Formats: sequence, C-alpha cells, structure tokens
Amino acid sequence: MCINHNETTTNPSHFEESEQAAAPATHQDIAWNDYRELIKGMRFFDPHIHMVSRTTDDYQAMHQAGIVALIEPAFWVGQPRTGLSSFKDYYSSLVGWERFRSSQFGIKHYCTMGLNSREANNEQLAEQVMEILPLYIYKEGVVGIGEIGFDDQTAAEEKYYRLQLELAKEARLPVQIHTPHRDKKKGTERSMAIAIEHGIDPSWVIVDHNNEETVKSVLDKGFWAAFTIYPFTKMGNERMVKVVEQYGPERIMINSAADWGISDPLAIPKTAALMKMRGISDEAIKLVTYTNAIEAFGKSGQIDVADFESGFSIDQSEKFYGNSILRGGQQPSPVKESILIR
Ligand SMILES: [Zn+2]
Repeated sequence: MCINHNETTTNPSHFEESEQAAAPATHQDIAWNDYRELIKGMRFFDPHIHMVSRTTDDYQAMHQAGIVALIEPAFWVGQPRTGLSSFKDYYSSLVGWERFRSSQFGIKHYCTMGLNSREANNEQLAEQVMEILPLYIYKEGVVGIGEIGFDDQTAAEEKYYRLQLELAKEARLPVQIHTPHRDKKKGTERSMAIAIEHGIDPSWVIVDHNNEETVKSVLDKGFWAAFTIYPFTKMGNERMVKVVEQYGPERIMINSAADWGISDPLAIPKTAALMKMRGISDEAIKLVTYTNAIEAFGKSGQIDVADFESGFSIDQSEKFYGNSILRGGQQPSPVKESILIR
C-alpha cells in the first residue's frame, strides 16, 4: 500500500504483482474453504502417508477434509537406525499406537511392512531385520510389503528387495514399491523386471512415486501406478490432473506421502478439488482418490470398506495400553474450527 506507482523508480516486477492481485480469482488463488465446497461429501483413501511424523492437527484436518482411511508404509525415519530394537519399536507402533491414534480421529489406519531401501545398505542390520519381519507382516491391518525397492540402486538394495518379494509371495500380500528419485526411469524399469522375474503378478504390485516419464510403461505392463503429490521433489497436482486427463483413471492412484519433510497431508482432497475444477468426472476422481487403492491393497484380505465407508464413531476417551491421546482434563473433540481454545 505504501508503494507509489507513479514514481519513475517503481519496480516493474512489483508492479506486475499488484496487477495480478487485482485480477479476477483463478483456480490458483481459490481459498481452501471454497475447495472444501467442491469436494463436499467425497471420501478419500490415502494409500501412502507417514503419520508417525505428523501431528494431531494433521489428523483433524484430514478427517475434516474427508479422508476416511490411510496406509502408512514402513520407511526410513530420517536418520539411520542403530539397532534392531528401533526397528521393532517402529514396526510395533505401526500396528499399535499409531493405528490407535488414527482411530481416535475417525480415520482407519492400515500399514505396509518392510525394510526400506536406504537401510538395506546396512547389511548387518538388514539381516537381522529380515529375521523379524515375518513376526509383523501377518498382523491385523498389514496390507502389503512396503515400501521397498531401490534408492541408490546398489547390490544390497537389490538383494533385500528380492528377499522381500519372496516374503510377499509367501504371505500373499501386495507389494508397494518405492521408486528412486535419482535415475527414476531406470530404477522403475528394474523394479518391475525383478518383480516379474520373481513370478509376481503385476496386479499385486503398486509402483509408487511415478511421473510423466514412467507412467506409460508401468500401466502397459499391468502394474498399479501411484503418484505422490509432493511439493518440489515429486509431482505437483496440476501435473497430476494432466496425467489423469491423458491416461484415464484406471489403475492410477494418488497419495500424499506426507512425512517429516515439507509435505501436505491434504494433497488428496486438494487434488480432487482441482480435478473437479478441470472437469474430470466424479467417477474418475473417486477411482484415483479412493477405489483403486482399496482394490489394490484389498488383495491382502485386510480391508473391509464397511469399517470406514460411512465413517465410524470416535471415542477419544478410549485408551491404548492405558494411554489416551487426551491430556489431563481435556474434552475429546475432533473439530478444529473454533478460535476458542478450551
Ligand atoms: Zn514414503
């Protein structure tokens, strides 16, 4: 407001910004409340999100935006684990405390179990992890082996990827593949070729973190193609809309992969709203944000849509091994819209 545009020193770029601000609203600057109107009544399933790294605010916002169920893949926690116990505690939390915490916000929690590619490179520890994995993969709510695959595409990564494919076959569980950020095309092709070599039906494999470069080959070979809407490093959601326009909604699913990095746990509802604005049918939106993930991971026999389809009642005063998510004297409330904090 303090800029005088008549001055000859006016910064042209600043001037452009002022003009943009005055222009009619476009999809880029529609407020979240308006997005919410567009997706009212829609239900979403996020098949890749790391809730152990997220807050109760995220759970509340996700619930309000229509996310009714999610899958939390076992992954790297940001720093290398130093021993087997931290793997055990992490796996236990995925089928225990985190699953409970999610239920307290009205969101059904599933997980995939696996040794992530990055830590496969610590072979001494990886050997021990492989020994305990079978103790976790048959637990309730485990819908696949994941996220596994390649990071740096080393020999050790390949070794433990192959061993875990065998584990998936034995347990009759779907496989959730993490494709590498570097050399993605090559890593994706290699991951698929190895899965086929192990006799795994592509319809049991969800190839994750796709982009425009990998999607065609993944779909042509009969795999599920998952896309991570993640700022900066993976896909923006405008690009995602174009992918769905080009390839249709069959065997495509989107996820947030929200974790401890800058990421967005509302990536799915926001992308659904954007798809709607771009004229993609409700039916197609439902496939890529809900149904396809349920069909793919449902092969585990662990997903019953009746558990979340019409929401489920939340009793936030429930406890998990004596622990509640409530602090002393708190009233359970999943709503976050009041400015009053009581
Ligand atoms: Zn992940």
